[in-house]
Amino acid sequence: MSPGAPAPVLLRGLNEARDACHAAGRSGSLGLVPTMGALHDGHISLVTAARAACQTVAVTIFVNPLQFGPGEDLSRYPRQELQDCNLLADAGADLVLLLAAHEMYPPDFATRITQTGLTTVLEGAARPGHFDGVLTVVAKLFALAGPCQAFFGQKDYQQTVVVRRMIDDLLLPVQMHVCPIRRDPDGLALSSRNAFLSTDDRARGLSLVASLRALQASFDQGERDGAVLQQQLQSRLQQGLGHAPDYAALVDGRTLQPVPRAQPGQVALVAGRAGSTRLLDNHVLGHSLPA
Ligand code: AMP
Repeated sequence: MSPGAPAPVLLRGLNEARDACHAAGRSGSLGLVPTMGALHDGHISLVTAARAACQTVAVTIFVNPLQFGPGEDLSRYPRQELQDCNLLADAGADLVLLLAAHEMYPPDFATRITQTGLTTVLEGAARPGHFDGVLTVVAKLFALAGPCQAFFGQKDYQQTVVVRRMIDDLLLPVQMHVCPIRRDPDGLALSSRNAFLSTDDRARGLSLVASLRALQASFDQGERDGAVLQQQLQSRLQQGLGHAPDYAALVDGRTLQPVPRAQPGQVALVAGRAGSTRLLDNHVLGHSLPA
């Protein structure tokens, strides 16, 4: 924490967290930034956006067991509470909610949010049940926060689509903001999981952004056939990773369905393993990507 940065208020209990957020929301605008911790500049960019838009900024840190499938990396997910709190002090967060699994999901917890359609393709097909876990925790965080503006990253593009659908379907009092993907200078999208990458894995991982750049270049050269572009994306990524990606798709940005003709605004989404680390990335066609 930089000298002079005021320390945010740390809240661990659900009731005190809810009381603090609701009080902040009653006296002015509340910005909510949900995270799983192990914070990097991508997370901090959400806090900065919330800081610019809202009177009070609340950041939640919770590694949500419900969104991890069996055999996924829940137990090795990086945890660094003290460092996170220092970063959040520097970024100007007011409230940091350090939530505990036993309070979020007590033994008699029995409710799940399930969404059809959007949650069964791409990331949802690769990780069955993942979005039920995401939506359940996000709904609970929204209830905890009360009326608020919520800040999410485009890095998890499909997550932004399914959360927006839930907000609209359930008339939740939440205004959603989606912030751009932050990348390292070599183009790799920042992720808490990048810490696991060896030098070789990182080189392989860079094939995600390279495949997205190649897709944009092909589009810029006039290719408009959605199936051809998707095929190029897949084979470029497969070549770079050295094995088949989990998915590489060009889809409509709202329906997440494949597109016959490519146009600006559609989204290319990629996911795959670099070594034992699973990475994702995406690109909105027509937007810029670092060289
Ligand atoms: P996570 O801690 O991975 O659950 O991420 C918390 C929030 O930070 C989500 O809304 C993510 O989309 C967002 N986020 C993660 N990585 C990035 C990034 N590289 N750039 C911008 N936002 C990000």
